[in-house]
Amino acid sequence: MTVIDTPLWPHKNFAHWPSGFRAAICLTWDVDDETPVYSRPSTPLSEASEIEQRRYGIRRGLPLIVEMLKATGVPAAFYFPAYMARQWAAVVRSLSQSGYEIGGHGYLHEPVGNLQRHQEEEIIGESLDVLRSLSEKPIRGYRTPSWQFNLWTPELLTRAGVIYDSSLMGDIAPYALAVDSRTHLIEIPIHWYWDDVEYWGHTQVTRGHVIVPPSGVLQVWKAELDGVVEAGGSFVLTLHPHVSGRPGLLTAVRQFVDYAKTIEGLWFTTPGEIADYVKSTDQVPTVRLASTSPAVEYTRKLP
Ligand SMILES: [Zn+2]
Repeated sequence: MTVIDTPLWPHKNFAHWPSGFRAAICLTWDVDDETPVYSRPSTPLSEASEIEQRRYGIRRGLPLIVEMLKATGVPAAFYFPAYMARQWAAVVRSLSQSGYEIGGHGYLHEPVGNLQRHQEEEIIGESLDVLRSLSEKPIRGYRTPSWQFNLWTPELLTRAGVIYDSSLMGDIAPYALAVDSRTHLIEIPIHWYWDDVEYWGHTQVTRGHVIVPPSGVLQVWKAELDGVVEAGGSFVLTLHPHVSGRPGLLTAVRQFVDYAKTIEGLWFTTPGEIADYVKSTDQVPTVRLASTSPAVEYTRKLP
């Protein structure tokens, strides 16, 4: 694979998808459940209703999701905070044995933006150790909690043996994050529009959050998917068992899957498979994350 350190758009339709496909779609679930409560000091740990609402995810939501996946026959990836993986080791093993992709998602869903480099490195290493002890296949993918990301994150992930991340929104198709002249991390982009919490997340501590009807969410997802297919990109849906694992909302997810299946040339796959494929191709657009840009430098000079 050749790295091209240039803007992405000259490389429209960069990903010469496998023969017969013109775009890709991935269903992914972040099995957060109660972990954000433990890693956010502002949430009282004695507040049981928030924790119970979130535990619905692994207790009831996940079995319903697996049932839906088996009925539709589509692949999926599950990203586990290591705490959840340890608590529910049999679930992780079973998902892995069933062929679903498993990836990392922090230890306790720690907000990455608050971490120093050495703390983040420790969390990535320890969380991947837990998942690797439970998974049938090597763990090669990571999604940062709440999609927060530090400039040094690609380096820490590649050093930990991760080949792809799925936490950034820099494009609608896979690209690469340069670590140094020879090393890079494949990025499989996501987006807030392609997430369930933004529309349906409503808990004790976020009760101001307006709930969107499933029909409205389906409208956004379908429009976004149509656009991504047209552009020849990849659509990565990010869901949470404690949110869209509820029966009514899962019906909407199922309807979206059924709609996607009607699109000719759409590759139902996983971020790991996309990363493998991209690495096997001739070239991939690559960016270098930086804390400053010419625009930032310019505005600093203004009076
Ligand atoms: Zn999460």
